[in-house]
Amino acid sequence: MQSVLSPIDIQRVRQDFPILDQLVNGKPLVYLDNAATNQKPVSVLNALAHYYEHDNANIHRGIHTLAERATHDFELTRQKVQSFLNAQHVEEVIFTYGTTDGINLVAQTYGRKFLNEGDEIIISTLEHHSNIVPWQMLCEEKGCVLKVIPIDDNGDLLIDEYEKMLSERTKFVSVVHVSNALGTINPVKTIVDLAHRVGAVVLIDGAQASSHITLDVQALDCDFYVFSAHKLYGPTGMGVLYGKKALLDAMPPYRGGGEMIKEVTFEKTTYNELPYKFEAGTPNIADVIAVRTAIEYMESLGKENMAAYEGELLDYATAQLADVPGLRIVGQAKEKISVVSFVLDGIHHQDTGVILDQMGIAVRTGHHCTQPLMRRLGIAGTTRASFAVYNTKDEIDRLVQGIRRVQTMMA
Ligand SMILES: *Cc1c(COP(=O)(O)O)cnc(C)c1O
Repeated sequence: MQSVLSPIDIQRVRQDFPILDQLVNGKPLVYLDNAATNQKPVSVLNALAHYYEHDNANIHRGIHTLAERATHDFELTRQKVQSFLNAQHVEEVIFTYGTTDGINLVAQTYGRKFLNEGDEIIISTLEHHSNIVPWQMLCEEKGCVLKVIPIDDNGDLLIDEYEKMLSERTKFVSVVHVSNALGTINPVKTIVDLAHRVGAVVLIDGAQASSHITLDVQALDCDFYVFSAHKLYGPTGMGVLYGKKALLDAMPPYRGGGEMIKEVTFEKTTYNELPYKFEAGTPNIADVIAVRTAIEYMESLGKENMAAYEGELLDYATAQLADVPGLRIVGQAKEKISVVSFVLDGIHHQDTGVILDQMGIAVRTGHHCTQPLMRRLGIAGTTRASFAVYNTKDEIDRLVQGIRRVQTMMA
């Protein structure tokens, strides 16, 4: 951990992201949709191009030089992710296609093998659909019971209620680290410790946390942790499932095919060891390789420095937006990442999004894949501005001007 923060050189950082330097609808782009996916630094783009220009080959079984280079770089990413997560063993890092894929993998392997009728699975009101639906599918198949941790009106989980839900029937807890819709940072260490007291296994959805919070799966003691590369300055189509080795070893494979086998006969197949047991077929080699560069990019800025700067952006945006009459911020949790969701009196979020886009401002509108959360809050959706390390206070000022323009136009 760094104890002394160094300020982010924002002009230099912005130069690392060529996509930001463009006009959209005649206005300089203001990209505030980072919770959906963030932009990629030029070093990541170069890593992708470099792989296809110099090293492209299928991995692991090739004996020629290109295959060896590709395999080497592919496995270097695994080591990088191991240190990024502080995982104890490198084979605890499984490459997936993203957060959704990782959760489905766990539900369909661990869940199908170890969960039975009447067993309880706990999720929370803050979950993204991808941490709801795989468990509902499992419940339907196995007769398990899904329970949901409630929230208060600020968007904080009611941990007392969670504690009351836990019993010897609780077999699995799957909770989001940081809410994509409201920005709430959940007390995941407490959630894990309480679950372990009743012997439940815990998965943490780290899709939003991974680019904002320094991770340590050993300190957290979670059993599984999942995230997507495209939300941490890396490419789409690549994600990570971390799992404790003993659990991963006990789990059956997910998809069958090449790479995940040791020996195949028509009578019987034996499976490969970790992590390959869970990596059937040709993986997303180029994108996996580029993820190392994405993590190195964050390391070069320092994750604590990034978090400090993003915290400043959040405070500034919250203060500026609070001054806009007719605007209500949705989600005022005690601990938040740099996400601000809001509603405007009498104006539909879709109209807000369309008008802001005409001004070059990219925000997300709607339910943010959290329909049950929106229902709990009594709204159909919000407009969401989410900030990454390359955003500026000037851009937040442009957002506020844009919102005032929306209000004038829709009045
Ligand atoms: C984006 C997101 C997901 C889904 O991630 P994919 O990359 O679409 O698989 C899940 N949970 C949260 C909290 C997210 O923000």
